[in-house]
Amino acid sequence: MPPPRTSEPPTPQVQDDPTDARRDDPVPHVRVAVIGSGFSGLGAGARLLKYGVDDFVILERGDDVGGTWRDNTYPGAACDVPSNLYSFSFAPNPTWTRSFSPQPEIWEYLRRCAREFGLMPHLRFRHEVRHARWNDAAAHWEIETSHGPLTANALIAGGGPLADPAYPDIKGLTTEFRGELFHSSHWNHGFDLRGKRVAVIGTGASAIQFVPQIQPEVGQLDLYQRTPPWIMPRTDRPLTPLERGVYRAAPPVQKAVRLGLFWGRETFWLSFNGKHPKLVERVEAIARLHLKRGVPDPELRAKVTPDFTIGCKRILLSNDYYPALAKPNVDVVTDGIAEVRAHSIVTTDGVERPCDAIILGTGFEATDMPMSHAITGRDGVLLADAWKDGMAAHQAAMVAGFPNLFFVIGPNSGLGHTSMTLVIEAQIRYAVDAIVQMDRNDIADVEVTRAAQDAYNARLQDKMSGTVWTTGGCVSWYLDRRTGKNTTLWPDFVWKFMRMNRRFSPAGHRARTWDQLPEPAAARR
Ligand code: NAP
Repeated sequence: MPPPRTSEPPTPQVQDDPTDARRDDPVPHVRVAVIGSGFSGLGAGARLLKYGVDDFVILERGDDVGGTWRDNTYPGAACDVPSNLYSFSFAPNPTWTRSFSPQPEIWEYLRRCAREFGLMPHLRFRHEVRHARWNDAAAHWEIETSHGPLTANALIAGGGPLADPAYPDIKGLTTEFRGELFHSSHWNHGFDLRGKRVAVIGTGASAIQFVPQIQPEVGQLDLYQRTPPWIMPRTDRPLTPLERGVYRAAPPVQKAVRLGLFWGRETFWLSFNGKHPKLVERVEAIARLHLKRGVPDPELRAKVTPDFTIGCKRILLSNDYYPALAKPNVDVVTDGIAEVRAHSIVTTDGVERPCDAIILGTGFEATDMPMSHAITGRDGVLLADAWKDGMAAHQAAMVAGFPNLFFVIGPNSGLGHTSMTLVIEAQIRYAVDAIVQMDRNDIADVEVTRAAQDAYNARLQDKMSGTVWTTGGCVSWYLDRRTGKNTTLWPDFVWKFMRMNRRFSPAGHRARTWDQLPEPAAARR
C-alpha cells in the first residue's frame, strides 16, 4: 500500500500572486486534476463529488468559470441548440427566457452550477496548465501551471476543442495592419464600431451571429467569405412566463420536453449518415427557400449559395444574416485575401478596400488541439507527436501511452445534429466511473492498449466513410488538415455514444495496482 499523502491539497482560496508559492514547499498532490471549468470541467467536478471523490482541483486559466460561454461575448452570441437540451440533465434550468439561449444566460447558468454543486472550493483560477508529464514510477501526472506545480493521479482534460482561436495566416495581418484587430472569441467591447469601415473575415457559426448585430452600427462592412455556409431558419422565441412557471412547479414537464427535443434531434442524424439522399434534398430545399426569401438579389444570392451538400459543414441557423447581407452598407467579398496593409485589405483581383477594423470570425484550433502540445505521456512521448497522423482515442476518452488521462470532448466526439452537453455528460460518466473502479480495486493506473484503440478507430472511420462529412464535397474544420481524416465528429446517433460510455469497461486496458509500482514507497494516491 502507498504511504499516506505527504502534503495537503492546494488551498481552496484563489491565490492571486504567482510568486507566493515558496520554491521549497512540497508539491501538492490531488487524486484528480480537471483542466477547464466550462461545461466539461464543472460537470466532471459535480460527478466526482456525487461519487464521493472530493480530492480534486479544477484548473482554470481564466478568472471565472464558463469556458467558451465565458469567452465568446460577441454581439448576438447564442446557442443554436434548444435551451432545454443545452444544459446538464441533472441541473435543469426552469428560468431560460428563450427557446435558444443567449450567451449571458448560459454563462450565468454555469456560474450557478459551480456554486450550487459546491465546486467553488475546488476551483483554481488563473492556473493555466503549461505542461503535464506522466511519471510512470509514481503513477501520477506532474502538472506545471502558471501558478506552480502539483501532481495528480488522474487527469481529466476538459479544455474543449473550441478554446483556442485560429488566426489565419494572411500576409501583413499581424505585422502591417495599424487598425483594430480582434477575434470573435475575444471581442473588444471597448472599441466603438459606430461609423467605422469594418472587415469581417469568415462566415461560420460565430460570424453569422455577430454580422447582423454590427451591420446597423458600422459605416461599411466588407464580409470576406471563403465558403458560403448553408443556413436554416432559426425557430427562436421567448419562453412565456406560463411555460417557465410550469417548468418550475413541475420539473417532470421540463424533463419530458427535453426528451422530446432529444429524440427529435436524433432524427436529424439521418440526413448526415449518407443513407437518405431524398431527405437531404428536402432539407436543402428548405435552406434554398430560406436563402431566396432572405436575399432577393440574384447576383448576391449566387455569391452566397453553397456548392456542397448540406451538412458537410456545420448547418447554421439564422433569420437575420441574409437580410443583413442585402443592406447597402454591406459587401460580400468572395475573392481571396492577398494581403493586409496598414489601413486596407487587398484581394487577389488587386482591389484594395480601406478598413479601420478587422474582426476575425475564423474559428478555432479544433484538429490540432493546443493541449496536445503540453501533455507528455509514458516514455516521454508528446501527445501531439502521438497524434501526428491525426487525433485518435479509444471511445473518445483514453489514448494509448497516456495512462489515467481522460478526455471530455475527445477525438471524434463532436456532433453535427444535437447537443454537445450529451456527449460531455457521457464522457464524464465514463471517466468518473473509471476513477471509482480504480479506487475500489486499488488500481494505480489504467491505460488503453494500442490494439484496442486501433480496432475502435478502424470501426469508427469505417462508419465515417459514408457520411456527408467525407462525401459532401467540402473542406471543413471537422477534417484534419494533414490527413483529410475526420477526427472530430461522432458518426452515429448520440444515444449510441451515451450507451457506449455509460460505464468504464476494463476490456482492452492494462492496469497496475499500487503494489505493482516500481517505487511503491514513493507513490502517492
Ligand atoms: P468556423 O465555423 O470554423 O468558421 C470559420 C470561418 O472562417 C469559415 O467561414 C472559414 O472559411 C473562415 N476562414 C478561416 N480561415 C480563413 C482564412 N484564412 N481566410 C478566409 N476565411 C477563413 O468558426 P466559428 O464560426 O467560430 O464557429 C466554430 C464552431 O463553434 C462552430 O462550428 C460551432 O461548433 C461552434 N459555435 C457554436 C455556436 C452555437 O450557436 N452553439 C455559435 C458559434 C460557434 P471556410 O468555410 O472556407 O473554411
